[in-house]
Formats: sequence, C-alpha cells, structure tokens
Amino acid sequence: MGETIGKEETLKIIRNVAKTVIGNEKKLTELDAKIGDGDHGVNLRKIFNSVLEKFPELKDEEDIGIILKKTGSTVMESTGGSVGVLYGSPIKEMGEEAEGKQKLELKDIVEMGKAADEAVKKRGRVEVGEKTMYDAIHPFVEELEKSYREGLSLEESLKRAEKSAKDGKEKTKNMVAKKGRGKYFGEKTIGHIDVGAMSSFLMIESVIETITSES
Ligand code: ADP
Ligand code: MG
Repeated sequence: MGETIGKEETLKIIRNVAKTVIGNEKKLTELDAKIGDGDHGVNLRKIFNSVLEKFPELKDEEDIGIILKKTGSTVMESTGGSVGVLYGSPIKEMGEEAEGKQKLELKDIVEMGKAADEAVKKRGRVEVGEKTMYDAIHPFVEELEKSYREGLSLEESLKRAEKSAKDGKEKTKNMVAKKGRGKYFGEKTIGHIDVGAMSSFLMIESVIETITSES
C-alpha cells in the first residue's frame, strides 16, 4: 500500500464499513441487550442502509471532503435514533477537515481523526472512562498522532492505532457506564464490553482492513 488514500479507496471504505456494521447487527444487538435496550444493531443497520442508498450520489463526487460530509449528514438524518448524531457528526467533521482534497496523507488523516474525536466528545459530552464509543475512538486518534510524530508509515501508524482502539474497547469491560442507557444499569455494566465501543472498533477495523489490503 502507498502513503495516500484517494477517492476510490474512500468509497470502498464507506461501503465496507456499512457492510461490516450491517453484518454484525445480531452481535451488536445481543451486546446491547445485556446492559442497554437491545437496539444498537438495528439502529446501525438502519443508519448504514441509508448510507448504501446514498452511494450512487456519493460516487459522483470528486472531493473526499464532500463525500464524507454527505455520508455524515446521511447518518445524522437517518432514523437510527440518538446514535445517528453520535456517529454522524464525527464523519461530517472529518469531511470538513478533508474538504478540497482528492488525496489524503497521514498528516491529513491525523487532523481528520482529531476533528472526529472532538465531535464525539462535544456531542456526547463524554470523557474517556465513561464506557462509551469514545473509549475506542480516543485511543485510536491519540496513537495515530503519536505514530505520525514518530515518522512512521501510514500502514504502521494505522496498525498501531487499531491496536490501541482494540485495547480501549476491551477496557470498557471493567468500566461502569456513565452515559447512554447503560448508565441506568450502574455497577451491573461491569463485565460487559460497551456496545458503542464494539461497533466503533468494528468500523475502525474495517477501515484499516480496506486500506491495508490495497497493494
Ligand atoms: P441508545 O442508547 O439510544 O439505545 P444505542 O443502543 O444505539 O442507543 O447506542 C448505545 C451506545 O451509544 C452506547 O453503548 C455508547 O457507546 C454510545 N453512547 C450513548 N450515549 C453516549 C454519549 N453521551 N457519548 C458518547 N457515546 C454515547
Ligand atoms: Mg440501545
């Protein structure tokens, strides 16, 4: 793989993420049923089906920023409940950051990651350790920036960041939920991975699998 990501790869990433999430509906719903209301898989399936429906329009755009902004807006406007905003706003903010670009370098991806991180933090009024999607996303972005500063390649940086997201997701198992519906389950949430951290990790994993499988 090279050191940049273009329009075609971006479209492939969006499609693969959508398919991954839809394919994991049952797993996500089962996880949410333990310490939530069991609708996360259904919510994300609805959200990403609307993204797939939007695909013909996305394909016509050349600007990666516009593609991501349109994807983010579709996620925010879909009928997938409150998570539409939590998952859509970071995608939209990544688009704002990438606007005008037809190729992305690691430097751009780091900036996009930081914009996504801020969007979740702001929209969710969330911090690390509250047992949410943010516990997978924040370590990912932090590690990506660190790897970039160390001068690592795009592939190595993404792989390290993916590992941090995976560890962050695992750590939610021992946390007490402080946000979302899980918060009503209090201490009972200990022992279960947060479903939003799980779905965020699955998305991150799909993004990286798509990028690194390009030769
Ligand atoms: P709901 O909580 O409305 O049933 P979902 O089940 O689809 O929505 O999603 C729940 C997930 O959303 C949680 O596991 C958590 O990761 C994430 N989440 C909920 N509230 C917040 C928040 N305020 N900040 C960040 N993430 C949140
Ligand atoms: Mg739920």
